[in-house]
Amino acid sequence: MALGSLLPELLPGGSGRTPLIERVARWAREKPDAPAFTFVDYSLDPAGKHITLDWAETDRRARATATALRQVTGPGERAALLLPQTLEYMMTMLGAMYAHVIAVPLFSPDLPGHADRLIGAYADSEPAVIVTTRNALPHVEKFLADHDVPQPKEILFAEEVDLGLAESWEDEPIGFDDLAYLQYTSGSTRRPAGVEITHGNVTANAAQLWSGWAPEKPDPELVSWLPLFHDMGLIATMALPLVRGDHAIYTDPVSFIMNPMRWLQLIAGRPGKNVYTAGPNFAYEYVASMASPEKLAGLDLSGLTTCLNGAEPIRTSTLSTFAEALAPAGLRAGAQAPGYGLAEATVFVTAAAEDVPPKIISVDRDVLTQGEVRLCGADAERASTLVSCGRPSGQLVAIVDPDARTEQPDGRVGEIWVHGPNTAAGYWRNSERSQDTFGGELAEPGGLPAGPWMKTGDYGVVHEGELYVTGRIKDLIIVDGRNHYPQDIEVTAQEAHPAVRPDHVAAFALPGEETERLVVVAERNRRVPLGRLDLDEVEAAVRGAVNVEHEMSVQAFLLVEPGAVSRTSSGKIARAATRQRYLDGALPTTAARLASRK
Ligand code: ATP
Ligand code: MG
Repeated sequence: MALGSLLPELLPGGSGRTPLIERVARWAREKPDAPAFTFVDYSLDPAGKHITLDWAETDRRARATATALRQVTGPGERAALLLPQTLEYMMTMLGAMYAHVIAVPLFSPDLPGHADRLIGAYADSEPAVIVTTRNALPHVEKFLADHDVPQPKEILFAEEVDLGLAESWEDEPIGFDDLAYLQYTSGSTRRPAGVEITHGNVTANAAQLWSGWAPEKPDPELVSWLPLFHDMGLIATMALPLVRGDHAIYTDPVSFIMNPMRWLQLIAGRPGKNVYTAGPNFAYEYVASMASPEKLAGLDLSGLTTCLNGAEPIRTSTLSTFAEALAPAGLRAGAQAPGYGLAEATVFVTAAAEDVPPKIISVDRDVLTQGEVRLCGADAERASTLVSCGRPSGQLVAIVDPDARTEQPDGRVGEIWVHGPNTAAGYWRNSERSQDTFGGELAEPGGLPAGPWMKTGDYGVVHEGELYVTGRIKDLIIVDGRNHYPQDIEVTAQEAHPAVRPDHVAAFALPGEETERLVVVAERNRRVPLGRLDLDEVEAAVRGAVNVEHEMSVQAFLLVEPGAVSRTSSGKIARAATRQRYLDGALPTTAARLASRK
């Protein structure tokens, strides 16, 4: 059965129908001195320098930026944000939203490892203006010189915007269908696509996030290090505080990666507040692995109301490791909230935010490969675990057979389809693909809307009123009529031998004569010295484990050098890109490395 319901206040004529950006002015009037955004800068002070803007100042800066943008470009033009993650970044987003200039939230070109995403998104959006900072200018100039990308008409320096310009900004009516920004997807399965997020979408999704994730609790605060150029970080950090004029405290992803304890310190540093935070599975895994009792000493995490885990497959092992590692610091078992979302829905779709530990079910793996959920004991021989991502908030979720376009019964795997005021209208300048993704129509709608439904490209299943995400359709490995999810095979491979680097494995399919063939590419774990590596032994261990666990043979196994498995800028495994490099013979193998040492 379809899950969720639409929030009446978000529907045409409802009370929530004032554009989110207009609330900045409201909070500036109603609580001018209350903190709005705090940026924690670890480059100025290793202990973290907190720089805070109140709502009055936030509104002033956003208006000044709006005027500055409109002095150099017109409504509907794009402004690419090519600057570091600071307060100016946030003010530029808000200013562009005031100004009817379509923001393209990207990053300074010196951010390592993300060049392809930047080139693709920048070129696709054809910005008239680049917003950057003086310090980042040399990187922007080099980016423009080194790549065949459109030159902007203007470059604006965010920190030099004359705040006096705020006075001259005159509000213009904002329509719900007006574009607010282009959210480029992560690029896990393709080149990042620019999702057109309207003011209506962002207003709806912020309200949905509030009601589903952080319902009415006193003194809520958001703590985040997530990149503002990805959907989850942007909506959590920018949009959520606007709903009720709350406080967001954020830093940048590099500061987190360099010292993950900073995340916990920021949370623990807000006593007496209801703290909300969010992150992808790998971040929780990373923190749990670093959080020794010595490092946790003195940290009190009892004020952490909810930590949302979303954006990539959630591992049950991560949930339990994180809970165990942080329980001594006061983490409540109910704080962890698995969630599901995607850029095409602005971001947020479902969350299991109740104050209870995440719900995990054990299902028969063989039956699951046939698209059916059958519960089994956790210690059954072929048990797979699935994590509940809870229920949707203010939108509808249906599980659909994508060929027949009919809703699937509970317990049957199908494509996750979403309908709500937060689903975007399309991809930037790509009407064909937009129709494919956003124009889903149910053949027999019953009591549901016939359309338009947004087709997520993910498989999932509804069980006892909750959504379980099983994996991406595009990444599915179909061998002998059974559907295997790559993430399960990747875990089996990494557990098979210590020389396989955890979380750096890609499993994908190649077409075969009668059925698809499985390829596993795994990075070498640096902890195992090269001199002691026995390649045949590693390969035999992986092949054996996949055979036993999944009853499938590995057509090809390749141990590659650290860093060789492609990832997105949000850290997700990019299987299609890895597959292409495998086919091109472009992967640096450990075998070649060993041969070159001889
Ligand atoms: P692209 O669309 O460019 O290939 P992407 O899909 O990774 O990249 P995002 O919109 O940032 O881009 O990520 C959304 C996707 O992340 C979802 O479609 C889903 O595949 C995955 N995802 C999000 N949350 C979960 C979850 N809880 N469990 C499993 N997968 C998830
Ligand atoms: Mg996607």
